[in-house]
Amino acid sequence: PIPSDAIPLLQQASDVNKYWQHTNGKPVNWIYANDRLTVKPKTGAIITKQGFCDMQLHLEWRAPVASERRKGAPKHANSGIKIQERYEVQILDTYNGSVYVNGQAGAMYKQAAPMVDALSPSGEWNIYDIIFRAPKFDNTGGLTKAAYITVLHNGVLVQDNFEIEGTTMHKGKAKYFNAHGCKPILLQDHNGEISFRNIWVRAL
Ligand code: MG
Repeated sequence: PIPSDAIPLLQQASDVNKYWQHTNGKPVNWIYANDRLTVKPKTGAIITKQGFCDMQLHLEWRAPVASERRKGAPKHANSGIKIQERYEVQILDTYNGSVYVNGQAGAMYKQAAPMVDALSPSGEWNIYDIIFRAPKFDNTGGLTKAAYITVLHNGVLVQDNFEIEGTTMHKGKAKYFNAHGCKPILLQDHNGEISFRNIWVRAL
């Protein structure tokens, strides 16, 4: 059972459109079946309707096995959790494969490799437990305190109170581009059929 003070972001089918929407505000077009929500490639990311600042986030994800992947799908199914729509904890299935170290599952994408590789085999569930402390800004918009993140992957510590360098960038140096308040949690459509279940969040 989830904690009594948690918001049940994804516990049952009715939670999908209660708590989530696409970034353009449209209803979620991903596929809910077998108690899981699966990315429908090319439909775009989804975000929580509510914004969050400091939080504890629990989330479970699963990568498809080869026989479940559509024709032409990337071999390494890719997604990600962008906390506050900016700070990405990577989701990527590299089981029996590899990628650059700060691009693998449990990485703060392009900023910090996970301390260990705790990845479950394709087709099995991965559990992320994330404790996030939001960045703070002064009233001129300057950063006064960076964001910090702790991540456990399948119960193993992979990010230990890491000081986030700024908005996740694919190329170039991360930085805090602008002051912001509480923001949604974003789940990426990165063209891979990643599934999600049992997502809950506690505002701290
Ligand atoms: Mg990704």
